[in-house]
Amino acid sequence: MKTAHKVASYAIAVNAFLFVFKLSMALFSGSISLLADAIHSSTDIISSVALLLGIRIAGRKTKRFPLGLYKVENLVSLGIAFIIFLTGYEIIREVFFQHRSLVLARPTYAMATAATAMLVTWLFSLYEMRIGRQENSPAILADSRHIRTDAFVSLIVLVGLIGKQFNVPAEKIATVVVIGFIMKSGWDILIESVRVLLDASIDPATLNQIKEVIQSHPAITEIRELIGRNSGSFTFIEGDLVVKAKDFTHAHQIIEKITDKVQREVPHIDRIVLHYEPARRPSLLIAVMLSDGTRWQVSEHFGEAPYIGWIEIHLNDNRILRMEVTLNPFTEIERGKGIRVAEHLVNHGVDLVLSRQLFHGKGPEYVFNSRDVKVIQISEEFVDRKLIARIYRDETGRDLDGDTETLEVITPPSTSD
Ligand SMILES: [Zn+2]
Repeated sequence: MKTAHKVASYAIAVNAFLFVFKLSMALFSGSISLLADAIHSSTDIISSVALLLGIRIAGRKTKRFPLGLYKVENLVSLGIAFIIFLTGYEIIREVFFQHRSLVLARPTYAMATAATAMLVTWLFSLYEMRIGRQENSPAILADSRHIRTDAFVSLIVLVGLIGKQFNVPAEKIATVVVIGFIMKSGWDILIESVRVLLDASIDPATLNQIKEVIQSHPAITEIRELIGRNSGSFTFIEGDLVVKAKDFTHAHQIIEKITDKVQREVPHIDRIVLHYEPARRPSLLIAVMLSDGTRWQVSEHFGEAPYIGWIEIHLNDNRILRMEVTLNPFTEIERGKGIRVAEHLVNHGVDLVLSRQLFHGKGPEYVFNSRDVKVIQISEEFVDRKLIARIYRDETGRDLDGDTETLEVITPPSTSD
């Protein structure tokens, strides 16, 4: 049996015990206030049966209710809120407007009964509160507050019985003290159930936590929208993201990874739906390592090449924005030139790297892979417009604007980084 079902079954048992115990002791002691409390406990048996049924139904998913019946729990909570209000009303009526002649034969027994009932109810409400939090169950949490109300009822009975011994209307004072707590419990549960039933947003803290998990993935460039709603014990999340990825398959993999991570780190999520679209860049940046910066001669080596050639193409009008040569700033260092150069290119936002050799299993490959930079192997000795046009067509399916046969005037090497 599930923990929530178990707790609801216990609630039935506890209320049945309290009813029998209070009723027999009321008859034995002759206490009418205890009798009224016993009658209240009989209605509590019914409400705890409704709780168990509600939780059982809430756990179902059927064809007609494909999103689950989780909200039945919130309906049950709404019902419990009304029971709490009714209890408050009963107390006020009992204490202030009912003038019964008390024939208390055995006051000590009546007091002991009220004290026992209060203790049992209070302890059970604490237990229910703990399980309700652990299971994230609104119905169990609502019931724990109802049971706490029942403990207040027994407290008022006890105070009234003690007051009677000294001819003081102590139960009136006790009622004034606790009625506020009782009505607030009912009100809080009412508001929370209605909020969930009307699909109010989940709390900002949880929403922020989910946002942080999503943003922690480097491929996510923007969260357009992120909403969450509760339904019974569960949370449903929907989002609209912009992903930097090579293609849709890759974007889909990224989204799946993020979905898994959110589900692992944020408890009680039933479903996450994340829509995505690829990030649109204004331009495509191509880099190539050069041995001769003036003639744009492609280097046989990667990390040791003296120059870096940059080609930026505007994606809107397919025109080359700039062709620039810079010095490789890492030629002097002893080790790890390749990785340093790769990081340098990535940090400048490179999208494509042209190279005479591929980096199978080497450092630069990891750097480029981690940032979705594509490496294209070329056999050409020199970079010219024709080569750029071919690469551009392969990558975007579009033609470079202008005459592809003529060679572009090349910017002389500069020392700028
Ligand atoms: Zn009750």
